[in-house]
Formats: sequence, C-alpha cells, structure tokens
Amino acid sequence: MPGIYLKTCGFLYCQEEFYGRLNQVYCDTDCKTHENNRRASEARKLNKEYVEKYNRAINILRGVFKPDANRQCLVPKLVMEQLNFPNDCPYTPMKDDRYDKPFHAIGPFAYQLEGNNFLIIKKRKYGTSSL
Ligand SMILES: [Zn+2]
Repeated sequence: MPGIYLKTCGFLYCQEEFYGRLNQVYCDTDCKTHENNRRASEARKLNKEYVEKYNRAINILRGVFKPDANRQCLVPKLVMEQLNFPNDCPYTPMKDDRYDKPFHAIGPFAYQLEGNNFLIIKKRKYGTSSL
C-alpha cells in the first residue's frame, strides 16, 4: 500500500519506488551521485550556451554599430534577424537619461526596440564628461 515512506527515486534515469526515511530522495547513494553529476553537467551545459549566446550577441552588435552624431545607431530588425541575433540573450536592464524606454545591456552595448529597428548605443563609462 502506498504511504508516506514509499518514495520514487530522484535520479532521473532510475525512478524506482523504494521505502525510505521521510527526507530520503534517492534509493541508494549511487543514484544520489548519478543525479548530482547529471545536474552539474546540465548546469555546465546551460552555462556554456549562455556564454556562447552572450558572445554571439556582442559580436553582432559590434559588427553593426555605426554611431551617428548622437552616438546611437538604428539597425532594422530584419537585418538583426538575418544575422541571427539571439533575442533571448540574457541582458541587464539599463536606463539612460536620454531615452524613455529602458535598454537591454549586453557587454559594452545596449539596445532597445524602436518600431522595426534596434536602437543601439554604447554603454557610457562613468567619469567621462564628453557627451
Ligand atoms: Zn535509484
């Protein structure tokens, strides 16, 4: 009969039912080790993907950034799509006094969508006075 001591092993590739202590998650220590290794490997893979996406985004932004007199640059969304810009790239929200909308900051660049364009600026370094 199922009860509170009947558990399903927490190792993804085991999931055997077992009886164990209330706080027991795995059927044995091997499964615990395997699951911890599996999760660590998954985390490393995710982190690698994150870094690759971030670097790709920066390289694309660097390639298209041709600042005008206002030190900003408009690039059609279509062009960014063709360059395979990762829209789901992790970013830091950033405000700039000159603009109403917040930017997505990635590396030395920051962008926001303005209609059918990417409005791209370079992040400003604090302590520089030039406008
Ligand atoms: Zn197990």
